[in-house]
Amino acid sequence: MNDCIFCRIIKGEIPSTKVYEDDLVVAIEDIDPKAPVHTLIIPKRHIETLNELKEEDKNLLGHIILTAKKVAEEKGIVERGYRLVANCLEEAGQSVPHIHFHLLGGRRMNWPPG
Ligand code: 5GP
Ligand code: ZN
Repeated sequence: MNDCIFCRIIKGEIPSTKVYEDDLVVAIEDIDPKAPVHTLIIPKRHIETLNELKEEDKNLLGHIILTAKKVAEEKGIVERGYRLVANCLEEAGQSVPHIHFHLLGGRRMNWPPG
């Protein structure tokens, strides 16, 4: 857990561009953006994948989505639209085992995703 990249970012051991922070979540700019807006919404608690989420995490999950909306407002993309994505495990493309939601926007998105 100590070598988790996102836990280290949350502790300030690895630098990041934070756009929002409160007691439950941080939002940081993705280091390798895939769209003009690419911000990661990350719970401060280390949870490896969506599969570990429990009933009592409902409040946290709602808070993550509302935080994404707030960041989208600040980035000026709420009217145009945006995408909120969470990859779970290897086949979906999860590369960091600490849950996070990608807020993507500022360009037209394709569907289905690759
Ligand atoms: P995943 O592939 O797990 O869905 O998403 C992980 C995301 O974290 C990727 O988009 C990747 O660019 C981003 N990422 C990985 N390491 C770092 C880092 O050290 N800092 C930041 N800001 N983003 C990172
Ligand atoms: Zn972690």
